[in-house]
Amino acid sequence: MDKYKALHDLRDKMEADDSLPLKTKETKLVFGSGDTRTSILLIGEGPGATENLLGLPFVGQAGKLLDKLFPLAGLTRKEVFITNIVHHRPPENRDPTPSEISAYGKYLDKIIEIINPEVIITLGRYSMAKFLPNVFISSVHGKKYNVFWHGRDIVVIPMYHPAASLRNGNVLEMEKTDFVNLKEILKKIQDEEKTKEKKDDTVEVEQMSLV
Ligand code: URA
Repeated sequence: MDKYKALHDLRDKMEADDSLPLKTKETKLVFGSGDTRTSILLIGEGPGATENLLGLPFVGQAGKLLDKLFPLAGLTRKEVFITNIVHHRPPENRDPTPSEISAYGKYLDKIIEIINPEVIITLGRYSMAKFLPNVFISSVHGKKYNVFWHGRDIVVIPMYHPAASLRNGNVLEMEKTDFVNLKEILKKIQDEEKTKEKKDDTVEVEQMSLV
């Protein structure tokens, strides 16, 4: 099954799941959006008021900032996939609780499995803690971590949440620098992939010459 169809089926399943703790008459499912064949997945925290209205992630003030940060890393929103730790808006934008994170986690894990990204960019503390527990964002932001997660190798790059940057000018400056540096990190990963592919080709040719 292709990724697009698999994600649509998962979205339908999630839409029908009345056990999800933040699902109410007032909350709309914000599953995620972007390129389903991407190698870069961004994970935020949870939908805010605008996201709840439109059913799309990062379309409010934090999303507007994210759109300005993408070009610093040589990226566009269209070429990545964006989702959240919880997929319904927590009341009054409060932080998601551990049991809410765990309830939505099984769907998020499935999204990760389907997209199968090489790189996960976490936005804020909650998505960072999924892959890098017991660290402080102030000491790890913008750095590259090789994580073996659920049987797969993933590069995790924790970033400050754009909403934190909107509240604090110092955080904004750090986040801008992190996105500028992200460009180089992504280029290195791409170059490494190309070298790996070339090596694989070489083995293929060697094997062919044996027969
Ligand atoms: N903040 C988030 O963490 N996610 C969104 O989708 C919007 C704002």
